This record gives sequence, structure tokens and C-alpha cells, in this order.
Amino acid sequence: MRRGSAEDEEGHVSSQASPTLSLKGIGASPGVAVGHAYILDRKRVRTPKLRLAEAEVDPERQRMRTALELSDQQLSDLKDQISRTEGPEHALILEAHRLMLHDPMFVDEVNRLIVEDRINAEWAVRRVARKLKHLFDNIPDEYFRERRSDVEYVADRVVRNLLGQVVDEEVSLPDHAVVVAHDLSPADAAMLVRGGQVAGFVTDLGGHTSHTAIVARARSTPAVLGAGRASEQISPGDLVALDGTRGIILVNPSEEQLALFQETMRRHQESEARALAAKDLPAQSTDGFRIRLVGNIEFPEELPSLLAHGAEGIGLYRTEFMFLDRKTPPSEEEQYRAYRQVLEAMDGRPVTIRTLDLGGDKVPGKGRHEKEPNPAMGLRAIRYCLSDRALFRVQLRALLRASVHGHLRVMFPLICGMSELREARSELEACRTELGRAGVPLGKRFQVGIMVETPSAALIADRLAQEADFFSIGTNDLIQYSLAIDRQNREVAYLYKPLHLSVLRSLRSIVTAAKDAGIPVSMCGEMAGDPIYALVLLALGFDELSMTAGQIPTVKNVLRQASREEATRLLATAMELTTAEEIERYVRTEMDKRFSSEG
Ligand code: PEP
Ligand code: MG
Repeated sequence: MRRGSAEDEEGHVSSQASPTLSLKGIGASPGVAVGHAYILDRKRVRTPKLRLAEAEVDPERQRMRTALELSDQQLSDLKDQISRTEGPEHALILEAHRLMLHDPMFVDEVNRLIVEDRINAEWAVRRVARKLKHLFDNIPDEYFRERRSDVEYVADRVVRNLLGQVVDEEVSLPDHAVVVAHDLSPADAAMLVRGGQVAGFVTDLGGHTSHTAIVARARSTPAVLGAGRASEQISPGDLVALDGTRGIILVNPSEEQLALFQETMRRHQESEARALAAKDLPAQSTDGFRIRLVGNIEFPEELPSLLAHGAEGIGLYRTEFMFLDRKTPPSEEEQYRAYRQVLEAMDGRPVTIRTLDLGGDKVPGKGRHEKEPNPAMGLRAIRYCLSDRALFRVQLRALLRASVHGHLRVMFPLICGMSELREARSELEACRTELGRAGVPLGKRFQVGIMVETPSAALIADRLAQEADFFSIGTNDLIQYSLAIDRQNREVAYLYKPLHLSVLRSLRSIVTAAKDAGIPVSMCGEMAGDPIYALVLLALGFDELSMTAGQIPTVKNVLRQASREEATRLLATAMELTTAEEIERYVRTEMDKRFSSEG
């Protein structure tokens, strides 16, 4: 997270007199930023449309050749620059753009239109680009479908060169600017973050998986994308405060709003400083009880941040995010690439990949799905996968293939009974046999566990532990189902109580079942990352806690300052009490006494 530049000499950030505008987009790269808007207008290149006389055809083809050569040279220079500063991964995107310049589907077709339809090169380029984009639209594989925007970037570059316009102009950004654009090409985004002076990004288009999001996350630059008409609504120099976690943008915020953003920024900065200081220290109580702190991720781009915060592995990779906001599911190959990337990045540390938890609030193929009357209790997670075996098998095969690249733990969500676990395992076994027969190498250290997140699983945890290699408790759902509160419903949010006696009793009995069976037990719900509960979880005996990268340092700090013995006393007293309010008051008071400065 970076600070904005709207500071006077004494470091006060001032808001402006203009009315505040509040915009919403997709929180694509976490963190908070405040800065003055820099509007990068790259969207409109007007394409002249001209008919050619016969004598103009050859010179037009020559003009096209020159523009292609120039574009190629520019991309090659950019690629060199970016691979030096950003690493080869981003440079690959530009290499793909160069390939397109030489692709006969593109070049020959443009020439054909110039010769046969007698239209000028700019117009021909646009027509071919439109056709290619249409072809990409129909490819089922998201990875290739995403290349639609690449066609646009390449066509744009060629048209600008044909028109003799400046391409890749060195943008001289004021320090700590919030860059606002209709859309950003990967080259633009990489160039802009390279200098390090961008506080944040706001774009009209794009989403969580667009290149801008990936570049922003890799550089920890907060970003809100897909923000509608933000680039028209925000004026150059406006003070912009953005929250890249919640997808919120405030333009010219009030003093109070600014103060809140600054407070979030301050806390974030503090926790970042703590993260660096504690990165390599073990999460171990003063009497030597060690808990492994691991990370929750939704996308592989979060890996650098996890590693920077000292994650000792991944406790929950929510793979369903790869399936959202697209019409067709990712292919086995695309999934394999993502899982392999995560396993390799974690370099032998355990990586828990959860099979699809679609359904409920996470509906694939945006808009196509009929809404279930009661989605939280409907066809969700493992139920969804068992009802669509083909979809499930693609994922299982991708996981099995990736298993050679690290320490993989496959985890099934929302298991309610033994039959579901057996059914899921037998699908996995079938895929394993199939791949084994085909001679595909599989990993040796391969475990299969379950999320314990329903009251029924909690009550038969002793039995489930006989057939699962590990447990991970999903408190978000366990609490939702135990206390009968819809986690999406704001009206009942006040009833969400992780310290409800029923929840504590469930947790205790699940941990006991795991210990009795000799299998490790983890927690990956939000409760695991809240430092207030750290001693309760230490007392309960968790082997592992999984949370977002930013929460790791604070939880570790708490665990390192207490003994298991005092945590056990605290829990025993807490469980003597009855109401959730009493328990919470008691635990909060005790935690405040010990760690009032921990936040
Ligand atoms: C949970 O339910 O606690 C959990 C971690 O899973 P999700 O939030 O993805 O349902
Ligand atoms: Mg869950």
C-alpha cells in the first residue's frame, strides 16, 4: 500500500471542497491508496475509413508493412525493458503480442482487405481485429479467450503507428498518483508500476483476472477495476481514495472519510512492518507449542504476498474463483497450470487445494444460473461436483497431474456424511487409475482431507477421521449452519458469534476426534485470522491456522507471547460461561489485558 500525494508540508492530507462521489468496482488488488487522479486516456484512437484508388493500393500495403515493423520493434524494446524490471512472466505477454503481428491470420487478412476491398490499412486492421476477437469469444478455454483483449492492444498499436501517433509515450506521472483509465494494456500497467510512483489503479473495464489486476497484485499496488464509467466521472487532479479489498472508490472524500481511509492505511503499514520483522519466526507459544500458520488464497497472484508475510504453506486455495465470471469452465490444462504454479511457488511446503465450492453465493457462468430458493442449503460444493461428475473429474485429473510438483493436499468442501467422502474419494481413485494407466507421473506425498463445516460432519467427526487424512474447519459455514444464520444476510449478521458455546463445543469435539485418530487439524475460516481468538485456538490444540497473508503477522505475534497453559485456563473459564455475549466479553477483556496494542 502506498500513500497518496495529497499532503501538505506537515503531512496532512486535505480533501477538496467538491462534492464526494462514491463509486463501486471490483476489488482486484488489496490495500488502500489515496492520491490525486491521473487520467490516462488511451481508449480512443479514431480510425479513419477511406476507399482507395487502384494506384493507392501498393503504397498502402507498404505503409502497413512499415507500421508492422515499427510495432514489432517497439514491442521488442518494451519486452526487454519489462523482463529486466518485472521479470520474464510479464514479458511473455508482450512476446505473444509480437507473434500476433506476424500471424498470417492477421497480416494476410489485412492485406487482402486492402487489395480486394480497397480500404485503407487502419480500417482493414480494425475489421480483422473484430473478426479475430469474435473467434476468441467462442473458444471454451478461458486462457485463450482472455487473448481477445490482446488482439485489441495489438490492433491499437498498429493503428496508432499507421497514424503516426505517439505510442508508449513516457507518461510523466506525479508521485503517488492514482491512475484512472478506461482500460490499461498489460504494457501500460507494467510500465506504470515499474517506476513505483503509482499509488493505485482505477479502471472502467477489467476484473479480478485481467492482466492489470495480475500486475497490480504482483506489485502490491491497490486496484479497483470494472468501475463502470469511473474514467469519465473522475477529473484530473481529483483526490481519490480507493480500497482495493472492498472495491470502493471515493472521489474527493470528506475529512471524516479521509480520516477513516488513513486509519486503515496506517494499520496496514504497521502490520506490514510487523510482517517483515516476524516473517521467519515460528508461531510458537512461550511453552513451546508450535502452530503452522498458512495462507488462504483465491488466485495464484497472491503467492508473493503470502511468502512475504511468512506463510508456511497454503491452507485453503479456493479454486472456484477460477470458474466464476465466465461462460465455460477452465480446461484441465488451464487448471493444471494454475495448481502447478502454486505448488512450485510453495517449494515443498504443504498446499491445500480445495475442490470446487461452487453454488451458494458463488455461481458460475454469470447470469445463466437459475437462482435456487435457498442457495446456502442447495446444490453447493461437493454436492455440486457429485452432480456434475464430468466437471469434477476434470479438476481431479488436473490436481493429480499437478501433484508431482510439490506437497499437495486435496480437500473436499461441505462434506455432510461418510457417503459423500467415499463417493468423492472413489472419483479421485478412478482418475488416479486412469492417469496411472496412461503413464502420467503422480506425486508421492498426496493427502486427501475434508472441510468440517457442517454440524453433521462435526457430530460424526470421529468416524470421518477414520477415512480422511486431515481436517480443516470452515468456521464461516460451521457458524452459519450451527446458528442458523445466513452469512449473506445483513439482518442477522449480529448473530454471527464465533465464541457461541455451541461453536466452541463443536470445535473442541472436532479437534478431539482428529487427535484421537492421529490426523492433523486445521482451521481456515475467518475465525482463524482474527487475533482475538488466537489463544482460544491455541488452547483447543489446532496444528495449523489458515488466513489471508496480512493476518499472519498479528496472529503470530499473539501466539508467540502467550503460553498454552494460560490459553487453556482462559478457554476453560470461557466455557464455564453460557451466553455468547458473556464469553465474548470475557475473552476480549482478557485479550485486551495482554495485548491491548495488538489491534
Ligand atoms: C468456511 O466456510 O469457513 C470456509 C473457509 O470456506 P468458504 O468461506 O469458502 O465457504
Ligand atoms: Mg465454507
